[in-house]
Amino acid sequence: MTMLTKILTATTATVALGGSLLATAAPASAAARDGVCQSGEFCYYFNSNTQGSLSDFTTSVPNYNTTQPTCYDYKGPGNGKGKCIKNAAASAWNRSGKTVRVYFNSGYSGAYQDFAPGAKANLKSGLKNQNASHEFGPGSGSGSGSRKAMSTSLYSASGTITCGFDGYKNTAGRHEGIDIARGVGANVYALTAGQLINVARGSTGRSGLSTIAVYNSSLNKTVIYLHSAPLSSLRVGQTIRKGQVIAKESWHGVSSKGAAHTHVEMRPGRQTRAAKSVGDSRLENPNPTSFWNSQGYSVR
Ligand SMILES: [Zn+2]
Repeated sequence: MTMLTKILTATTATVALGGSLLATAAPASAAARDGVCQSGEFCYYFNSNTQGSLSDFTTSVPNYNTTQPTCYDYKGPGNGKGKCIKNAAASAWNRSGKTVRVYFNSGYSGAYQDFAPGAKANLKSGLKNQNASHEFGPGSGSGSGSRKAMSTSLYSASGTITCGFDGYKNTAGRHEGIDIARGVGANVYALTAGQLINVARGSTGRSGLSTIAVYNSSLNKTVIYLHSAPLSSLRVGQTIRKGQVIAKESWHGVSSKGAAHTHVEMRPGRQTRAAKSVGDSRLENPNPTSFWNSQGYSVR
């Protein structure tokens, strides 16, 4: 929508709503994502001066996604309803008891604007229609400080990073992913949602590499898991939920059982296979830390 169109529709919405805005009573508890800005919530508005459709939150969100049906969208009645909120908020109302910080980038980074408890204001130039994440109580641990450890999330139990991104020490080549280990047979959980675009089952031992590739079209990124034993129920084309069990830890494509681990690799775009790591001196993938942070994980 062009700025002129947005201004015109904002005016129309103001006229149409008239004095009805005061009719929203605050119920006893806040129900997020219901299109009503209740006590305890932080709310984005599609238009300036807290006009138009709103989107209500009770927690920090590091990444809004950009397309339906996976994006955070406007829920309330009025202008903008159903549209994704990323880069499309003009004002906000903080009805929570904590400061809420709105960021230019996903993952709580870049330029920001603070909304004190009770504040109702337009987003400033540079953030208006350029909002990508928000954090309740910035620096207090509710947002970035509460990111979950990747190693714990992968197994839904404690795991250990045994080799980091580009972290080969005694192996020739550049490591294109992150190796995480718990123990043979441990459930492996999907770290991101998406569509399953490749399953190669492999077998135990050096030559039996397995691959699970999950493509997220909103993020335009593929997360690839190597070496595990994919669940027999996995089918190419199926939708994978974040936190869904996809495999058991194993050593498919690893020389010994004692070295079992899951290699987790983020690749830009739609990719059915991992980049070559062992024996390949060219690093293809970007450092994935900011990606994992934007998905709510810390690389540990
Ligand atoms: Zn690896």
